[in-house]
Amino acid sequence: MIRKIVFLTGTRADFGKIKSLIQSLVEHADFEPYLFVTGMHLMHEYGFTVHEIEKSGFKNIHQFENHTSEATMDLTLSKTIVGFSEYIKGLNPDLIVVHGDRVEALAGAITGSLNNLPVAHIEGGEISGTIDELIRHAVSKLSHLHFVSNQNAASRLVQMGENPKLISVIGSPDLDIMISDQLPSIKSALDRYEIGFTDYAVVLFHPVTTEVERFEGYVQEFVTALKNSGDNYLVIYPNNDLGSAAIIKEYKSLKGHSNFRVLPSVRFEYFLVLLRNAKYIVGNSSAGIREAPFYGVPTVNVGSRQQNRSSDKNIINCDYASVDVLKGIGLAKSLRIESKTNEFGNGDSASKFIEFISNFDFENFDAQKQFLDLERK
Ligand code: UDP
Repeated sequence: MIRKIVFLTGTRADFGKIKSLIQSLVEHADFEPYLFVTGMHLMHEYGFTVHEIEKSGFKNIHQFENHTSEATMDLTLSKTIVGFSEYIKGLNPDLIVVHGDRVEALAGAITGSLNNLPVAHIEGGEISGTIDELIRHAVSKLSHLHFVSNQNAASRLVQMGENPKLISVIGSPDLDIMISDQLPSIKSALDRYEIGFTDYAVVLFHPVTTEVERFEGYVQEFVTALKNSGDNYLVIYPNNDLGSAAIIKEYKSLKGHSNFRVLPSVRFEYFLVLLRNAKYIVGNSSAGIREAPFYGVPTVNVGSRQQNRSSDKNIINCDYASVDVLKGIGLAKSLRIESKTNEFGNGDSASKFIEFISNFDFENFDAQKQFLDLERK
């Protein structure tokens, strides 16, 4: 019997992290992957990245527009539930796979668990700032299987009452692609995205939903620091969380500055190559926490968004004020990277994922989860 596995993706960020897992199912005779594509993927302003998914060669792609407006992530959640519920009732999948900490993942986990379908959560058990922190743990509680990036994350899930037998440490699946020898050359990346400099840093700065009232001021400080540093920058738009409009508005002031190249989004494989060749990455993206240290690229991590996520010594944490950001940039440029780190795995997530779900007893799946107290485990 061929098992139907549905992956839900709402942003470039989660797609890069599930891509190698989907690919591993394509190549497996017992499973057939399906993709429910929504969120930023269908927004032209953010690069209409559903095209990137189609170019990856995956079949069974279902598109659903879930956006309402930036200021109503709760309505986006409910709209996604409506669309996803209708979709799975038509498909009748054997497993739903969601990733991370966004409303789309929450919608997938709610819909799956309320329909007694097994839900697998990728990269639960991590900690961060912003509303993501709350969403991530809620998604874990609504999921039945957990594929986590390291032992610390696994322990947190156990602490949250999850069953250790249903937690598998597979690493962060984006590392599978990061170590690939099939990545494009830096020249082709610079050409493709018309980047006119070879000596540059990457900028990825997202809103923090819980700080939205102060964020406009933070963005101005941030952009002032970039302008004053004198470096060349590849600036990539934030995701569409509450507060993103203020960031995009501020980026408009970079128009005409030859040391800034501003892009809505870059295809994952090209992004990796551009990151690997950058002097540093500045902002508050998870790419600065997980991917940059793996490549040995310094990170200037600004503000609270990635709070407590990593203690890697190649990550320089700083506050929002432009003097602090500039100081961080100065430190990053003088940093001598001693070693590349792999706190989030070794690039073999897909094979570990496949092994786990091949052994999962779909027939006898029990939708009734039970909180396990620590002493009883
Ligand atoms: N990413 C990408 N293209 C881009 C920007 C980011 O493929 O133009 C990937 C990046 O490699 C990382 C993830 O998206 O895996 C992080 O994205 P982002 O900063 O948008 O979101 P976060 O994870 O911080 O919420």
